[in-house]
Amino acid sequence: LSGLAAQQMKENIRVTVRFRPLSSKEVQKGDGVAWYADGETIVRSEINPSTAYAFDKVFGPATTTRGVYDVAAMNVVRGAMDGINGTVFAYGVTSSGKTYTMHGDPVSPGIIPLAVKEIFQIIRDTPKREYLLRVSYLEIYNEVINDLLNPTGRNLRIREDVQGPYVEGIKEEVVLSPVHALSLIAAGEELRHVGSTNYNLLSSRSHTVFTLKIESTPRTLDPYASMGERIISQLHLIDLAGSESSKTEATGERRREGSYINKSLLTLGTVIGKLSEGRASHVPYRDSKLTRLLQPSLCGYGRVSLICTLTPASSNMEETHNTLKFAQRAK
Ligand code: ADP
Ligand code: MG
Repeated sequence: LSGLAAQQMKENIRVTVRFRPLSSKEVQKGDGVAWYADGETIVRSEINPSTAYAFDKVFGPATTTRGVYDVAAMNVVRGAMDGINGTVFAYGVTSSGKTYTMHGDPVSPGIIPLAVKEIFQIIRDTPKREYLLRVSYLEIYNEVINDLLNPTGRNLRIREDVQGPYVEGIKEEVVLSPVHALSLIAAGEELRHVGSTNYNLLSSRSHTVFTLKIESTPRTLDPYASMGERIISQLHLIDLAGSESSKTEATGERRREGSYINKSLLTLGTVIGKLSEGRASHVPYRDSKLTRLLQPSLCGYGRVSLICTLTPASSNMEETHNTLKFAQRAK
C-alpha cells in the first residue's frame, strides 16, 4: 500500500453513530437519556458535557434507517456498482440496534434490503451494461466460518489465489431479483436457528457477512468488441458480534467464546484504526478470520462505512463510552 493509497483509504472510511430510542424495558427500569447530539457530528454526555466525541455524522433516535442509508451506505453501494469494493459494518453491544440497522424488520427495512433494492434499480437503469450478481452469506463464530446458504458448509477455510483470499467451498448463488436475494438471507437465518440450541447467544457472539459479488460487462452486439471493460467488485454488509466486554462473564466455555469474539473485533478495531490514521504498514489483517477475508476491501481504495449503534440509556453509560471510543479510534 503506497502512501497515496493510505491517504485515500483514510478518506474512504466513514464513521457514524446511531442512537436508538430508549426501549420500553429501559423506560420501565427508570432509565434516562444519558447522551445528546450537539449539532450534526458531536455526541456529548448529559452529566458531563465536556465529554464529547466527534464523527462524520450522529443519527438521533428519530432518524429512520432510510436516513441512515442515504448518509452511511448509499455511497458505498453506488461505488460497488462502479467497481469499487465496499463494506458496511454495524458495530455495538447486544440490543443496541445492529440487526435493526442492517436487516431491519417488515416495517423498517434495513440497509441490506435497501442496498439490494437500489442495486437492482441501478441495473434496470443501466441497460448498456450486463450484470452478474452472486450472493454468499456466512457466519463467523469462534473464528469458525460456517456457510449460511449450505447446511453442510461447516468450518470452511480461507484460501488465497492471485485474486486474493476466498472461502473455500462457499456457496455462491446467482440472484436475479431483490426478492430472490432476500429470500436467501431468510433461509440462512432459518439455518442459524435450527443449528443452534441457544440462538440468542449465538447471534450475539457471531459475525454475519452478506456478500454481493457484482460483475458487469458492456452489452454489445459486436462479437469482436473487447471484453476489457469487465468490472468486478465485492460489497460486504456485516452485522458484527456484540461488542460488550466479556469481563462480567462466567469462566469456562463462555469466556473462551467471548475471547474469540473479542479477538476478531479487536483486530478489526486495530486494522481500521491504522487505516484511518493513513498508516499502511503492520496492519494485522491476518490476525483474524474477519479481517483476513475483508483485506482486499479494507486496503487500497475500498469504501468503508462503520455504523456504531448505541442505546442512550443511562444504565449503559459504560458500554456506550466503550463504543464511542472504538468509533473515535476508527475516525
Ligand atoms: P442488536 O442486533 O444490536 O443486538 P437489535 O437490532 O436486535 O440489537 O435491537 C434491539 C431491539 O431494539 C429490537 O427490538 C429492535 O427492534 C429495537 N431497535 C433497535 N434500533 C432501533 C431504532 N433505531 N428504532 C426503533 N427500534 C429499534
Ligand atoms: Mg443482532
